[in-house]
Amino acid sequence: MRIHAIETGRVQIKQAQIEGRGHGLWRQAQPMLSRKWADWSPTYAWAIEHPEGVIVVDTGANAGLKSLPRWHPFFQFAVRFDIEPEQEIGPQLRALGIGARDVKTVVLTHMHIDHDGGLAHFPLSRILADGGEIARTRGISGAINGYLPQRWPTWFAPQTLAWQPTPYGPFRRIAPVTRAGDVIAVPTPGHTPSHVSVIVRDGVEDIVLAGDASYLERTMLSGTVDGVSPDEAVAKSTLANIRALCAQRPTIYLPTHDPHAAERLSQRRRIAIAA
Ligand SMILES: [Zn+2]
Repeated sequence: MRIHAIETGRVQIKQAQIEGRGHGLWRQAQPMLSRKWADWSPTYAWAIEHPEGVIVVDTGANAGLKSLPRWHPFFQFAVRFDIEPEQEIGPQLRALGIGARDVKTVVLTHMHIDHDGGLAHFPLSRILADGGEIARTRGISGAINGYLPQRWPTWFAPQTLAWQPTPYGPFRRIAPVTRAGDVIAVPTPGHTPSHVSVIVRDGVEDIVLAGDASYLERTMLSGTVDGVSPDEAVAKSTLANIRALCAQRPTIYLPTHDPHAAERLSQRRRIAIAA
């Protein structure tokens, strides 16, 4: 299967968000309080050329994110976006010869603003997301948690992922994305409580489109929880599950903001991990 890495501009966050420092509310406050910005990171979205139609995993950022609600301390102190309209996913897919009509399915790993930011480019697609994640965007608590559902296209009505009690490696359930069963979602809670990752089973290899399960391959391998996960134990257990998958199968691990993700995909560079 051909998979395209689409870089939808860059984002800058604090180092303490990429690698959480300390514990509890202290850890979760550091992305706002710390002054140490990390280097600019890419924001990848992924397009899979599949016999059942193109599947897009996450939709990236949009140029509107350069202006964010000022009342929210995370938006004011913890994140900066750098993206022009032509860097959004729609124009980049068109340049690859993939039009809106070709994209049959969009899967969202979670609903953070740099993952649902390109939804407007997919008015004709089936859009899948976890029901718990969609619910979390609503109301005052959704706003406090940094979701911006008011920026979704008015037609946006996602279908919820249909979870089945079928285990896959260390994961206890899956939600099929294709009829063939070769693209599946697995639960990777942590960064958000209902975060999912998408696994493309391409021949012998599992390509994990990890969203923000970790910001880097390195922090997954070291089991370092990020600075925003609400529950450290849940996040740690997900990182352990991903390492278990890597030990069981040849795995290529592709987080949204890992600067080496596109290169690992093009070189099909697998994770080396002892079983
Ligand atoms: Zn996120």
